[in-house]
Amino acid sequence: MNDCLFCKIINGEIPSSKVYEDEFVYAFNDINPMAPVHILVVPKTHITNVLDITSENSNIIAHIFEAISKIAKQQKLEKGFRVVSNCNEYAGQSVFHLHFHILGGKQLSLQMA
Ligand code: 5GP
Ligand code: ZN
Repeated sequence: MNDCLFCKIINGEIPSSKVYEDEFVYAFNDINPMAPVHILVVPKTHITNVLDITSENSNIIAHIFEAISKIAKQQKLEKGFRVVSNCNEYAGQSVFHLHFHILGGKQLSLQMA
């Protein structure tokens, strides 16, 4: 049994507003946007968070960043945007399937915390 919310979104059990998809990556709009553009980019395989990245799966991470670059251009974010990954509850991670937030569409504050 896989009870992971983002695994369910990837396999279509839970609906989402898809922005981009390829063999390894799925991207969709955040349900609670913190900026005019707020997209979540996730690997299709279940990786818990940044601490779960190893030499065995880091090729997927490289691929995710290629996808992020494509998505940013599709969304016309060339002026500037932010990529964030919260790792563990202490940093604000609430869904334990690795994801990168793309935030943009407005001038972002310099404050990181
Ligand atoms: P985290 O807090 O783990 O870094 O980010 C999880 C993100 O997932 C949050 O920004 C939250 O709004 C988003 N989220 C939680 N549940 C859902 C959902 O069912 N659908 C979508 N599209 N986003 C979700
Ligand atoms: Zn998952």
